[in-house]
Amino acid sequence: MAIVQAIRCGTLFDATGAPPLRDAVVIVTDGRIAAAGPAATAAIPAGAEILDLSDRFVMPGLIDCHSHASIVPALGDQLGQIRRGPVPQALAATQNLRRDLAAGTTTMRLMGEEHFMDVELREAIEGGIVPGPRLLIATRGLAANNAHGRGLAGFDGVDEVRRAARENLRRGANHVKIFVTGGVSSPGAMPTGSGYTREEIRAAVEEADRAGTYAAAHAHGGPGLRLAVEEGAGTIEHGALATDEDVALIKERGAWLICTFGIFLHPQGIEGGDGQRPAIMEKMRWARRLADENFPRHLASGVRFASGTDAVHGQMPFELETLVRFGVSNRDALLAGTRWGAEACRVAADVGTIEPGKRADLIAIEGDPLKEIRAMAHVTLVMKDGHIQEGLTRRDAT
Ligand SMILES: [Zn+2]
Repeated sequence: MAIVQAIRCGTLFDATGAPPLRDAVVIVTDGRIAAAGPAATAAIPAGAEILDLSDRFVMPGLIDCHSHASIVPALGDQLGQIRRGPVPQALAATQNLRRDLAAGTTTMRLMGEEHFMDVELREAIEGGIVPGPRLLIATRGLAANNAHGRGLAGFDGVDEVRRAARENLRRGANHVKIFVTGGVSSPGAMPTGSGYTREEIRAAVEEADRAGTYAAAHAHGGPGLRLAVEEGAGTIEHGALATDEDVALIKERGAWLICTFGIFLHPQGIEGGDGQRPAIMEKMRWARRLADENFPRHLASGVRFASGTDAVHGQMPFELETLVRFGVSNRDALLAGTRWGAEACRVAADVGTIEPGKRADLIAIEGDPLKEIRAMAHVTLVMKDGHIQEGLTRRDAT
């Protein structure tokens, strides 16, 4: 017997581009959406479980395009955190992912973990052993030995990059993550130079491509970012120092810009952990000033963008708020957090909108985020694959 649910929605925002619908019904059959439309014309099957969200705003579950399961930036020394042993990392991950789920993230793309821990995490979540968003995983991030992002090992030269990408894919990676430029959370290394040669980047992209997936490049701007885009990276992560020319190139090549504002701007981001280190705070202030100056223009340029928390767990609402602060409409911010994220992560056939055939991943919100984006912080129900995620408290989300 199929399990059928009928969800009454006060307002339904399905993220297809259709206007929001008042008094709607979503029919879910065995964890997939069977129908969605006006309550007046909905055919509710006999025996359906009724879920009454008629006082709430219902939209697709959020897609966090960039996170790290085991890192808590506010604890400082993020690279030190991912070099810890597997047990402390797994324990941290269970708490972090629960927090993300509680705040409405039902799909999350992980962008580098050690010990192939994300393979086990993905399985544990699928098996219902620990609560968390559905995971798309990178396994080990690929970084040169002297570069930002290096975890337990560095990978140098075309052959090592190729071998590492292949091993990641063999172990179950959904995509290949490559660190091209420097970063903000480690001292030294100007964030725009390239840690990898063109040939090394090309090898990573080729291996991903031949396995039917894509490479995601950590790139803040400058020559490193341009190399990554020219060599065919599918997503450009952060782009904090990107210029108009960089963004024009991303747009021209049809790559996605994945915005991660919280890690620079939120008090629980880098500042919370490494704010005492003057060299890092100086880079942070620089990155913040550039973001404030440049992102309003970048986001209006027509480049495709989506959002990620970069491990500021539970803070997708902050990402969407920041998009709005930078001039994006509330509607487009909601799309960046849902459908566009699904497109960027290449899972749009399965998630990102509320449409027949998709997984029944949806969230209910008190208030109307199309009018006041801060309402996104008031997620009161999370459904994943048709299952209401029980036992998540408000405290998990904050
Ligand atoms: Zn990251």
